Amino acid sequence: MKLLPLIFSPPGKRARLSIVIYHRVLLQPDLLLGQKGDIASFDAHLRILTRNFSVLPLSKAISMLKSNTLPSRAVSITFDDGYADNAEIALPVLKKYSAVATFFVSAGVIDGGRMWNDTIIESIRHAQGDILDLSQLNMGSYPIKSLTERQKVLITLIEKLKYMPQEQRQEFVDKLSALIAAKLPNNLMMTSDQVRELHREGMEIGAHTINHPILARIENSTAYNEIAEGKKMLEEIIKAPVNLFAYPNGKPNKDYLLDHVKMVKEIGFDAAVSTAWGAAQAGNDIYQLPRFTPWDLNEGFFILRMIRNMFNEIEVAH
Ligand SMILES: [Zn+2]
Repeated sequence: MKLLPLIFSPPGKRARLSIVIYHRVLLQPDLLLGQKGDIASFDAHLRILTRNFSVLPLSKAISMLKSNTLPSRAVSITFDDGYADNAEIALPVLKKYSAVATFFVSAGVIDGGRMWNDTIIESIRHAQGDILDLSQLNMGSYPIKSLTERQKVLITLIEKLKYMPQEQRQEFVDKLSALIAAKLPNNLMMTSDQVRELHREGMEIGAHTINHPILARIENSTAYNEIAEGKKMLEEIIKAPVNLFAYPNGKPNKDYLLDHVKMVKEIGFDAAVSTAWGAAQAGNDIYQLPRFTPWDLNEGFFILRMIRNMFNEIEVAH
């Protein structure tokens, strides 16, 4: 029996499309990150989703949203950034549940690259000693004896760096990893072959710029290039059109602006997703569809949260 009452999610004109976001799926929970993003919780999520909702490929759900033909309890699954574990660990689970997901890949980071936040995470993970002295980088010094202390410095550094200009941030990240002098992994992101594999297995590939910049913080010409070239690079890899886009970081009016929405349209995407909370309904801007990150493992709580998200007022760039 489906636990989600039909009244909350009727089909047709009043239907709502919930879009969920994942990033990494690990074999084991990562204690440093303190998150439940492992294969067991992903499997549990897929069981709850496929049992209680109509899981649809995002492109199909969007065209149904446009024609008012969405089924009741419509959900689409998305992944951001292009982590290798998406192909290695998440894909078999998706296939087990016959679910199609959309993978938004940052085209310049695949094939041996690393997201800046992962360089910080891996640097802190590998840092030796009880104190991390970053005074020569003008970033203070932090105790890193316990796991909690390491988690705290991780959050502090990521928050400080998130909105720093890209070049300045990269410079810091490079210096940090040089200072820690540990060998950091170069296989966190997908290879081009893995992007092709996902596509071949019937999954959808979406664009997520080249370098994952905060669009609102860079020049418009650079932003345009990031959006347009990221699309082209992926199309060359999969030899097929890439019609969906996800704004990096994705918060409307903060991470992307109306100018970027216009660019995404002009470049020829069919639709785009943000990270504003809520569920989409007929009449919403299909170039700013909201998404949300589920984390409950209890079926009842999971569904309650999905319902609450459905009625969240959607923020858009204006
Ligand atoms: Zn991202």
